[in-house]
Order: sequence, then C-alpha cells, then structure tokens
Amino acid sequence: MCRHLAYLGPTVTLGRLLSEPEHSLVRQSWEPRHQRHGTINSDGFGVGWYAQGDPVPARYRRTGPIWGDRSFTDLARVVRSRAVLAAVRDATRAGADGEAAAAPFAEGPWLFSHNGAVRDWPDAATALAATLSPRELLSLAASTDSALIWALVLHRLREGHDLGAALAAPVRELAEASPSSSLNLLLTDGRTIAATAWGDSLWYLADPEARRMVVASEPYDNDQRWCEVPDRTLLTATRTRVVLVSLREKHAGAPHQGDEGP
Ligand code: GLN
Repeated sequence: MCRHLAYLGPTVTLGRLLSEPEHSLVRQSWEPRHQRHGTINSDGFGVGWYAQGDPVPARYRRTGPIWGDRSFTDLARVVRSRAVLAAVRDATRAGADGEAAAAPFAEGPWLFSHNGAVRDWPDAATALAATLSPRELLSLAASTDSALIWALVLHRLREGHDLGAALAAPVRELAEASPSSSLNLLLTDGRTIAATAWGDSLWYLADPEARRMVVASEPYDNDQRWCEVPDRTLLTATRTRVVLVSLREKHAGAPHQGDEGP
C-alpha cells in the first residue's frame, strides 16, 4: 500500500511539508508507522501542487523512490504552495507503467490518489469498467486498479458531483464487487479535500486558526491534534472545517463546498 497526503493552508514549501517533519512522507516511504499492508513505498512517487491564482495544478512524478531523487529535493526547497497532494507508491503488481501509475492522477483542477488494492484485479472490476465509455477506458492513465478507480471518480466529477459523492459511490460499488479491497482514496481541487478510510489508516490535522488542514495516511509528526479517521468513513474538509460521514450508511457523501481558491 502507499502513503498519501493532502494539504490546504498557508503557503508552505514542498520540503517543509513533505521532507522536514520527523515522520515525513519521505521517511514514510521507507519507514511508515501505521501502514497495514506492505512495507516499503519505493515504486515511484508524485507531488501535485497549485500555484497562486491558477486552478490547474502542476505535477512532478517519478518511477523510483522519493528518497533518491535529488531533483525533487532541490525543487522542494523552493516550490511553495497553499494546496498540495503527494503520494509514495508500493506497487500492488509489478508492471511497466512506471511514472504513469504513480499518483497523483490529474485532470483539470483535480488531483487524486489511491492507497490500497482491488482484490481479484482485474476480474472483480470488469462489470464496473463496463459502466465507462470506450473513450474513458481507452484514456485510462495506466493499467492499474488505481487508474480505473480514478476513471470512475472522474466520470462522476464530470457529471457535476461534489468531491465527496464522487468518491463515495465508486468505493461502495467496488467494495460490493470485491469485498476485501482496500480503498483509501484522496481527492482535492485545491479548495476542498475528500478522502475515504476503507481498509487502511487515515488521519487528519485541523488547525482552523491557522486555516490549515492536513489529511494523510498517517501523522508526519507528534502533534497531539492529529485525529484518526474510523474505517469506512468519508471525510470532506476545507481549510477550516472537517466533516466525517460513515460509509456504512446508505446515503453518505453530502455536498460540501470549498471556501477559497488555491
Ligand atoms: N494498487 C495501487 C497501485 O498498484 C496502489 C498501491 C498502494 O496503495 N500501495 O499503484
């Protein structure tokens, strides 16, 4: 499984957010503390960030481990943002997709990551894949379970669903088709974060006074304000508010609007 993180808050360098904390995402790539499956997240990584006044994020993705990428270290020293989504990957299956399979996946204003695996892939997902158009299937970002989940989420975003609803429906459908799947999804548009806890760890750190929100697979430091999200929960958050809804209930995923741009 992977580790991922989304941030909304005051301007921060990527290094401050992703490398400097004691248990940073970079460290989690070789020494995660709460990861339930797998050990080392060295099969690629990616960072997406929003520049001031631009709704379409930039991405930097690579096929190797984040700890060995000196270009990332250099960029992270100076790139600043108020909205970031980053992930380190432990590939469920070996494959040739490389960088294309590394989150975040992106389209327009959205960044997406999946921490988990669809059990019995691809057989368990064929019926759901058939709900997508041939064009959507031919445009898959990679030949992985995560890329199909992203296509299912994107389909709903394009139909106008809010971020939470766009995650909740595919999680329920996939869990029904393949019950022992782990489906921790993370999505942002630079204003709002939506995430699911479904089979792996998920935490958030809310600091409304500083207008700062972090949602991550696990805490990156020992701040006492980190809260663990219960399994089978949909989280939606802005810089100042967080809402948790159980996915065990039938109609989770109420609309939740962001409050300001990146
Ligand atoms: N199954 C996804 C992949 O192979 C995610 C992996 C993970 O969470 N470790 O990329």
